[in-house]
Amino acid sequence: MPTSIAPAVFKNYINGEWVESRGGKMIEDRNPADTSELLGLFPASSEVDVAFAVDAAKAAFPKWRLTPAPKRAEILFRAAEILIERKDEYAVLMTREMGKVLPETRGDVQEAIDMTYLMAGEGRRQFGQTTPSELPNKFAMSVRTPVGVAGLITPWNFPMAIPSWKAMPALICGNTVVLKPAEDTPFSTYNLTQVLEEAGLPAGVLNVVFGEGPGAGSPLLTNPDVNLISFTGSTEVGRIVSQACAPTFKKCHLEMGGKNIIIVMDDANLDLAIEGAIWGGFGTTGQRCTAASRVAVHKKVYREFVEKFVARAKKLRVGDGLEPTTDMGPCINEQQLKTVMRYVEIGKDEGAKLATGGNRLDKGDYAKGWFHEPTVFTDCDPAMRISQEEIFGPVVALIPFETFDDAISIANGVNYGLSASIYTRNVNNAFRAQRDLETGIVYVNAPTIGAETHLPFGGTKNTGNGHRESGVAALDFYSDWKTVYIDYSDRLQRAQIDNTAG
Ligand code: NAD
Repeated sequence: MPTSIAPAVFKNYINGEWVESRGGKMIEDRNPADTSELLGLFPASSEVDVAFAVDAAKAAFPKWRLTPAPKRAEILFRAAEILIERKDEYAVLMTREMGKVLPETRGDVQEAIDMTYLMAGEGRRQFGQTTPSELPNKFAMSVRTPVGVAGLITPWNFPMAIPSWKAMPALICGNTVVLKPAEDTPFSTYNLTQVLEEAGLPAGVLNVVFGEGPGAGSPLLTNPDVNLISFTGSTEVGRIVSQACAPTFKKCHLEMGGKNIIIVMDDANLDLAIEGAIWGGFGTTGQRCTAASRVAVHKKVYREFVEKFVARAKKLRVGDGLEPTTDMGPCINEQQLKTVMRYVEIGKDEGAKLATGGNRLDKGDYAKGWFHEPTVFTDCDPAMRISQEEIFGPVVALIPFETFDDAISIANGVNYGLSASIYTRNVNNAFRAQRDLETGIVYVNAPTIGAETHLPFGGTKNTGNGHRESGVAALDFYSDWKTVYIDYSDRLQRAQIDNTAG
């Protein structure tokens, strides 16, 4: 079995073989709940490694492109089954690698399973259109064609789910892949790669280069043999990715940051809203692109909400995600913890009221990791930086409002547009909210997190550039439409000219 006795030193996966990085430099993969635990050393790959991986993907493309999609799908079905067998093993490893609690890492592996099955199913769909031609004895249809070599760059917060969101649709559409996972969570991508190899993916179809963004991600953006880039990460890096793809017109998909909101109306089921806001704000230690880092509450129920929400936040148990008693794990690394601490200071300086939390946890066992208290700021102004900027940590800003229209304008008054939610029992407000919220995802009576793999996922404004992950929408990015006209009239027929009467 591949991962139970995991090697301490890992290699890149290129052309169906595990190969050392040419540069020889390595990156440590450490447990953020206990940094004395070293999970392994992974290559800090360079441009040379990336070039080899791209060459392998390019060489494998002609055969994979012509492999019938239902045959490609059989490999994905086998991969999903292997993932099911190893779900618990991989979840434990993921918790050790990035800190989120076990139920969440099980969910992460489950999301990879769901996406793999979903895309395997697409092997027998990938429907195009057939439509009447405007001319007689002429046939018209559209078919999906693969794009070529897909460069995939992923973040650390969903270490198996996000690589699978990208790799599975890319593969089922007939593309070959070079994947560069986040430097903080290489192990989960290693596990996913093992699974696809065992499921029978031919050499060169999936290649994995581990390493840092500038060293191993950046060369993918400029390599002329890479035909598309799919990136998930921060808006700051997304802008670099977009600009690097522009000169060669690479198809480029960006999924970036968020500043998501839960709106609580005065007619909401308040206990349900509080439960949702706790899960949305502090699940994955607030390190989700869809985290509910803002909660806007109607003034009529604001005081009651604050009291109960703060009491719930105080009760959250912070610790090692492997312990069943833990509600919230550590931040991913020291840098992320420092960002959280910096924003706590910013919030205080701006005059928001610190209702609970606000401190790093560094006594006793906490000293081994990157822990921070669940933190709630109350009476926040929507214009404050803590209400506007992505913190990516366990910090929630509570914002009071007076009318439904105020709530919608607070919700839309940020640069991001990923996810928004409203708690209300008024059907009119629910429908107006889903229409007027400027986000890619809207929830009613549920928090901002909880996307399902068969529906489009992505955002507007500084969150995304118009493409979507998941569902059939993902196929639109990983394939090009080809329109085919077949004329069997044996004569020249001119569209728009020969079809007009007289
Ligand atoms: P990040 O932008 O620092 O890194 C993301 C990936 O890009 C990593 O693999 C990194 O190595 C790589 N990278 C960094 N610099 C690069 C460069 N110059 N060229 C090419 N690649 C480069 O983000 P992160 O810290 O890993 O993840 C957190 C961010 O991701 C948050 O902003 C979060 O909102 C966002 N995110 C968005 C979604 C979404 O679907 N919208 C999902 C998860 C995370």
